[in-house]
Amino acid sequence: MTTEIHPRRLYLLQLKIASVPTPAGPLEMALGCYLIRMSDGRHVLIDSGLSADYPTPGLIPLTEESTVIAHLDRLGLRPEDIDLLICSHFDIDHVGYHGAFSGAACIVQRAQYEAAKGGHPRFAEGRAHWDHPALRYRLVDGDTELLPGLSLIETGAHVPGHQSILVRLPQTGPVLLAIDAVPMQSMFSLERAPWPGDEAPDRLRADMQKLLDLVAREGAALVVFGHDGAQWRTLKTAPDWYE
Ligand SMILES: [Zn+2]
Repeated sequence: MTTEIHPRRLYLLQLKIASVPTPAGPLEMALGCYLIRMSDGRHVLIDSGLSADYPTPGLIPLTEESTVIAHLDRLGLRPEDIDLLICSHFDIDHVGYHGAFSGAACIVQRAQYEAAKGGHPRFAEGRAHWDHPALRYRLVDGDTELLPGLSLIETGAHVPGHQSILVRLPQTGPVLLAIDAVPMQSMFSLERAPWPGDEAPDRLRADMQKLLDLVAREGAALVVFGHDGAQWRTLKTAPDWYE
């Protein structure tokens, strides 16, 4: 791990935490994305959050200061500094600034890309972002070690080809970014109910089994849940980092 290329820092970019009304009462929802600095200086961004101009009445509005672009700027980075953009999936709250990263290779599961390109209505509202003509996509099929210490884990119960990410950090150890495969910590179990928007509830149990097995096998030090505001409040967020 010392001589090979490896992830050196993981930044959790906390774009926003807001209380959202649900049938079960208000829920603390987080919006985030992730930045990894590799030991060779490359930067890997995971998702690009919601755009500030997205009309979100009653949802989670972002200001210009809370976008991924502003977060990167505060870390001294411009969009051109991002070498790889990993797309977990093309829901609107994950693709808001994809068009800014035309210099990066965009990594997405083939199943997700083809579903969206094929006109799946769910991905229509973010299409101007994820289907920006300047973007260069690299399609992957299933679980893939993208770089040493950085693995893509296919978790398609949420949407076809959704992917979670495993990051092996030198001091912290393995960290699983579940993204929308497990949006809330309370849902990380075999018996969990579907989350709004989960398209294949019959696959949920298999996805949960896969991630629970992965966490046990890897001895994961941390699992970050995609939209869990209560958890995100307890995490080290940018400008701080995990290493
Ligand atoms: Zn989401």
